[in-house]
Amino acid sequence: MNTEHEKKIIILTAPSGAGKTTIKTRLLKDMAGQLSFSVSATTRTIRGGEIDGVDYIFISESAFKDNIENNRFIEWEMVYPGMYYGTTVEEIHRIWKEGKTPLLDIDVKGALSVKKLFGNQVLSIFIEPPSIEVLEQRLLKRGTDNAENISMRVNKAKEEMQYKNSFDKVILNDDIERATAETAEIIKQFIGLK
Ligand code: 5GP
Repeated sequence: MNTEHEKKIIILTAPSGAGKTTIKTRLLKDMAGQLSFSVSATTRTIRGGEIDGVDYIFISESAFKDNIENNRFIEWEMVYPGMYYGTTVEEIHRIWKEGKTPLLDIDVKGALSVKKLFGNQVLSIFIEPPSIEVLEQRLLKRGTDNAENISMRVNKAKEEMQYKNSFDKVILNDDIERATAETAEIIKQFIGLK
């Protein structure tokens, strides 16, 4: 159980299509007693298969802006044009209160902000795709985005790759099994399970 002075945060960040979601899902399942997913608020539209309150809290732009004005976010970003995403103070405190460590799945800029704010309390992990070409193929195969969205995500990925050395750890995802095991290992060390 985390005590007051041991409040930690784990961040997974990566360009879209790097395999971050697969790694996140496995970690949350395998370490359910220690980690809890930090559900972000977003203004983007809900996708088929997503559940409001589980994947994201889907809110209007005016509600999002109200949250910004009332300092309810530890960080927020307009990740894609017109689409806002933010980590709420309430969510982080809820998870700490449960004695668990929040696992944040947020973009590169948001991750850098949280690291700056919480310093050594944070373990920031960058999941690196083997190449931009592989990433584009994964996005096409996933089939959740149209061509315009894919090209937007690929361009953003190129930009995000430039920040990879600003994170505590970089995990190359050329093999999902190895990448997941490696990520689990460094998380266990960080939260003192090893
Ligand atoms: P998607 O629309 O595919 O669910 O997510 C797009 C991107 O937004 C992903 O890179 C995801 O990590 C990021 N994201 C999700 N929630 C947050 C958040 O609360 N803050 C920030 N900065 N990025 C987020």
